Amino acid sequence: MQVQQLQQLLEFDREGMIEFAKGLGEKPFRATQLFRWIHQRGMTDFEHMSDLAKSLREKLSTTAFVQPLSLISEHRAKDGVIKWLFDVGQSNAIETVYIPESDRGTLCISSQAGCAVGCTFCSTGYQGFSRNLTTAEIIAQLWFAEHTLRKSPEYNARENRIITNVVMMGMGEPLQNYTHLVPALKIMLDDHAYGLSRRRTTVSTSGVVPMIERLGLDAPVALALSLHAPTDALRDELVPLNRKYPIAEVLDACKGYLRYAPRDFVTLEYCLLDGVNDQEVHINALVDLLKPSKGPGFPCKINLIPFNPFKESGLKRSSNAQIKRFSDALLDAGLVCTVRKTRGEDIDAACGQLAGDIQDRTSISERRAKVIPIVSPLS
Ligand code: SF4
Repeated sequence: MQVQQLQQLLEFDREGMIEFAKGLGEKPFRATQLFRWIHQRGMTDFEHMSDLAKSLREKLSTTAFVQPLSLISEHRAKDGVIKWLFDVGQSNAIETVYIPESDRGTLCISSQAGCAVGCTFCSTGYQGFSRNLTTAEIIAQLWFAEHTLRKSPEYNARENRIITNVVMMGMGEPLQNYTHLVPALKIMLDDHAYGLSRRRTTVSTSGVVPMIERLGLDAPVALALSLHAPTDALRDELVPLNRKYPIAEVLDACKGYLRYAPRDFVTLEYCLLDGVNDQEVHINALVDLLKPSKGPGFPCKINLIPFNPFKESGLKRSSNAQIKRFSDALLDAGLVCTVRKTRGEDIDAACGQLAGDIQDRTSISERRAKVIPIVSPLS
């Protein structure tokens, strides 16, 4: 006897849900109703979806399911940041972080279990890569945060949205998991689900050039580029993907993206590492790169990120004085620049500290020997 596989409904954007409903002999509006029950009301039990016909609820119970992620732990930082660790099977765990501010609530979502890019200043990069998350696993992080926070006493009295912004800046390189990322973004933006604004939904990439334009066509949300170095020699070392897609190509792709983007600039992330990329020579090279004496310059906002140290990296955070010097010099050169406030440090939830727990396939030394050339940090 053939055993029928049940369908996880968190996998579907609305188009996918409509196709699935069609297969059950149901009209598109039934799919939209089901979609709203799941994403807007956080319902997983078909029996309680009271405005669906009984016959549909019966069909669903034998063909489909809604399975949230399984929570391993929750940590709350003194500044209100919450970090959740989820089990995604086979000894892999991923992290999701909620960052509350007075005027917004930002959820930082993971796209992969681990990451293959291996940036030297990122704890996830040191974990190795295990696998891509499915669409269901990506969206289930938002589903969980939204419906958990709604029930928590400090948030449930709020009239405004609890999660106003999503950043794909957790574990993983989102554009290396494109197939699963795009439907998840569509669910985030869908008014029948979370209805997030395209301006407040950001994909952060280390520079997967061919996928940047595709993202513009498929789900044009805000774009952030992890730049971290002003020259190819240094970026090759800090962000090894740079060897495949060097800075000029990546910036060109980002410029092209502005045709589709909801904002007229790209955010450039620059993590400040003491003595590595924070010196005068780097400031000058960065200004030359982004605001050359001829030409219009690159339309960007630079977000300087104080490094959050972790022991394997051997790297140190730039001093506050150096961060200020760096930021002042960029502002003096006419560039737009902000310094990111570090949040959730006491629970290792700050930028670059997300490590989850990954079944590494290769040892760190082997992996790094393959991808990291020996380059002087100040070159
Ligand atoms: S910074 Fe992003 S792309 Fe680089 S290793 Fe970390 S998760 Fe991967």
